[in-house]
Amino acid sequence: MNSAWSARHSVQAVAQRTAALVNALTGEKATPDEIAGVLREHGEQGSPEVTEGDMAPLRTAALRLREVFAADDADEAAARLNGLLAECAGPLRLTSHRGASPWHPHLDAHDEAPWGEWLLASSALALTVLVWDRQQPPGGICASAACGNVFLTQGSGPVRRYCSRRCATRERVAAHRRARGAAPDAADRRPNPDTPA
Ligand SMILES: [Zn+2]
Repeated sequence: MNSAWSARHSVQAVAQRTAALVNALTGEKATPDEIAGVLREHGEQGSPEVTEGDMAPLRTAALRLREVFAADDADEAAARLNGLLAECAGPLRLTSHRGASPWHPHLDAHDEAPWGEWLLASSALALTVLVWDRQQPPGGICASAACGNVFLTQGSGPVRRYCSRRCATRERVAAHRRARGAAPDAADRRPNPDTPA
């Protein structure tokens, strides 16, 4: 059993897939093909079939999961996850999809459950384990108003504010420009490019 095989359904892999799907489904209007592409990028085998009819339930699920990322602390994240679990979780079971994947837990009703139900149940489970493991919210929402993507918190380390280096750089440059433009005596003051937004 190689590690790439078992890592494909690790908690971290499922959490990353959750963040990617939430961003794809809550950003600019995605097509079923684009969502199928995100699923493939995150380990779904074969050609996942996503139809136009799946999109509304998928978007609803993504918006509800985004609320968990928006939680300020572990208590709030846990309360929101408990709400999702109470609503969408069936009995916990293990599946290997008849040997096509490593054994991993599912909370949806059955292996052929619709994508919306699957997204909510599998994501709620992975985020629940992260809260359990780290006693902190599983992630956050990018502080860049132009972005709004969700991101996962990586272990311990400094508190993260942006989803990506690209957003952090853009905001730092914008703050620098604002600081220079706003100060009437800007010529006398030396702007500090390291001042965070
Ligand atoms: Zn961002």
